[in-house]
Amino acid sequence: MKNSVTVVGAGLAGCEAAHRLANRGITVDLWEMRPTRLTEAHKTGLCGELVCSNSFKSSQPISAPGQLKYEMGKLGSLALEAALQTSVAAGDALAVDRDRFAELITKRIRDNPNIRLHSGEITSLPDAADGLCILATGPLTGEALSESLRKYTGQDHFYFYDAIAPIVEAESIDQSIAFPANRYGRTSRHPSVKDEASLDSGDYLNCPFTREEYETFIEALAQGQRVQPKSFEKLKHFEGCMPIEEMLDRGKDTLRFGPMKPVGLVDPRSGKEPYAAVQLRAENSSRSAFNLVGFQTKLKYGEQSRIFRLIPGLGHAEFLRLGSMHRNTFVDAPRVLNSDLSLKSARHVLLAGQITGVEGYFESAATGILAAIFAEARLNQKPIPTPELGSALGSLLFHTSNPRNPDYQPHGINFGLFQEEAFAEDFSLLKRKYPKKIPKEARREAMVIASQRAADRYAERVNKLPY
Ligand SMILES: Cc1cc2nc3c(=O)[nH]c(=O)nc-3n(C[C@H](O)[C@H](O)[C@H](O)COP(=O)(O)OP(=O)(O)OC[C@H]3O[C@@H](n4cnc5c(N)ncnc54)[C@H](O)[C@@H]3O)c2cc1C
Repeated sequence: MKNSVTVVGAGLAGCEAAHRLANRGITVDLWEMRPTRLTEAHKTGLCGELVCSNSFKSSQPISAPGQLKYEMGKLGSLALEAALQTSVAAGDALAVDRDRFAELITKRIRDNPNIRLHSGEITSLPDAADGLCILATGPLTGEALSESLRKYTGQDHFYFYDAIAPIVEAESIDQSIAFPANRYGRTSRHPSVKDEASLDSGDYLNCPFTREEYETFIEALAQGQRVQPKSFEKLKHFEGCMPIEEMLDRGKDTLRFGPMKPVGLVDPRSGKEPYAAVQLRAENSSRSAFNLVGFQTKLKYGEQSRIFRLIPGLGHAEFLRLGSMHRNTFVDAPRVLNSDLSLKSARHVLLAGQITGVEGYFESAATGILAAIFAEARLNQKPIPTPELGSALGSLLFHTSNPRNPDYQPHGINFGLFQEEAFAEDFSLLKRKYPKKIPKEARREAMVIASQRAADRYAERVNKLPY
């Protein structure tokens, strides 16, 4: 096998992949279509351009985004290095001067003697004879390449997705108000789940509203500040994923007959159907996080936290992710990708970035690093070094490859993605200190400490030269 890799897309993921491979002595042909052809959101020809916010979320060590940064740093992340060099004051968050950030990434890519940066749009997947290819063309992948990918993955496995609802941490839900029930007491099972022992997805938590509570809530929602859409986004709305505030514009009862309909739900406290209800669906098997079903929104972040805390049971909600809405192309990764991010139908093509169904700048970059590590192992004919489950990288990779996830949706890194069983030993030690209930802070600290150890072991393994 030749000692070179083609990378398509010089965004967050593609630049990370190219940078890591090049620094490992592997020649990279990196293809980028901008500025000749821009996407709907990109504005420049710079590598690593940030399309929206300039924030990379929290840099606090005891946080899931903080842990991801720790792990990326251990693996020599270009995005992290550039972010630290171009950071601007933003409290606990790592935020950057976006122009300086992209200029620095571009310079590092251009100056690397092992990277050949080509300008041009790739319209179809390369042949296996051309060697390994990392496809990192992002959520705005153009139609020609999408079509080519679709042929390999099968039409049904290629999504066009437009909405994200907030996710709330289970411990912060007041379960003396939110009650578990399925509509009409039914249990539901996604038809694609064959394994009887897997998801029994019927267990919703339901937040019941009185008439007065509903009216207070919709009043606040109607007045909430909205993010103004970019012109192209206006064209892309689908009826099925309309933001809730826009549904409300159609009439004050639209929500009560839509995502907040109470039919078939009986509040055990009153023995009656509430006036309206918000359903919360578990995000993971440990039920440590729940999403607000049908609550895709374009409200500004601060407004979401304020207004959604008016929902009965969510008065003290801690949001692991807030809602957003934009075009977002991604593959049904658990079904179309192998656990080394390669396409099941074309092993020579590895996917990286948002197109794999991770969500966020650093999450995208992180999968670029992983794709590079896996590609290097393949070139050297070594076993694929997967990161441990008890790490942020391992959790992201598990998200993309867990076949028990029938309704695959993009996720940014959050503690809800970490698989609790990976920390069983750490928690059992904590149980001795807190026999009744382990405080959330202590749990998270234990998870981060264990994840850091796992990340150190991983970095030691994959940073060796030659691997
Ligand atoms: C409108 C919008 C707003 C977003 N806002 C945020 C946000 O605020 N915060 C956040 O964390 N995440 C945000 N995201 C999600 C995501 O983190 C970013 O899209 C991120 O840039 C994804 O990284 P990536 O490397 O996968 O894709 P990108 O950074 O988009 O990189 C893909 C690259 O591939 C190039 N390309 C595409 N097709 C081809 C082709 N056929 N041939 C050659 N080159 C090609 C593109 O020009 C681009 O440079 C947003 C996404 C969108 C769509």
